[in-house]
Amino acid sequence: MARRIGILGGTFNPVHIAHLRGALEVAEQLALDELRLIPSARPPHRTAPQATAEQRLAMVQLAVEREPRLAVDDRELRRDKPSFTIDTLESLRGELAADDQLFLLLGWDAFCGLPTWQRWAELLQHCHILVLQRPDADSEAPEALRDLLAARSVNDPQGLVGPSGQIAFVWQTPLAVSATQIRHLLAEGRSVRFLVPDAVLAYIQTHGLYRGQTDS
Ligand code: ATP
Repeated sequence: MARRIGILGGTFNPVHIAHLRGALEVAEQLALDELRLIPSARPPHRTAPQATAEQRLAMVQLAVEREPRLAVDDRELRRDKPSFTIDTLESLRGELAADDQLFLLLGWDAFCGLPTWQRWAELLQHCHILVLQRPDADSEAPEALRDLLAARSVNDPQGLVGPSGQIAFVWQTPLAVSATQIRHLLAEGRSVRFLVPDAVLAYIQTHGLYRGQTDS
């Protein structure tokens, strides 16, 4: 029987409740067999994160350890090259059966940035794309994505058929939380309790992460 695997990539700097709640809700709504959070090593489009890759990974592991529907995949941290999503998809596909369904979760902001991604037109050969609404984001899709949306989007995420090739928007509890906000709060010496799981908060405190930083 075909498996249904979801993946959510990100810098997770740090992982927070919107990542986790969104991932869990999608896993439930779409009856996924597994949803993997994939921390990126050297994000090609972002300035370097302040926590090390190992620390970001450790926080994601702590965040999911008591939730059986969520898992961590560290393959992008094990690569010595920049972690392009297309490479990750090809690598995952190499491990799956041909009819397994792969769902790439993207927040709306990440989805809008798709046309700048390496070999982005090939992504849908390997996966379906699930777009998560993000309450803190703009609402217009960029011009470059309009044709793709017209050709590939389906209204109901339950209606995604086959191993790859379609786009659907998924509802999740709107949570206007960002890692940037969390880093800013910590830099100001303020609490981030309830924005991250307690285990992640304890890790941040133990390792003195994100203190006194002024960048975004
Ligand atoms: P930063 O503030 O550092 O840019 P972030 O909070 O956006 O970080 P990322 O690790 O960059 O977190 O996000 C990973 C994925 O999760 C992206 O696809 C992003 O769009 C999505 N995401 C992050 N926060 C939310 C949110 N509040 N609601 C929905 N999706 C989100």
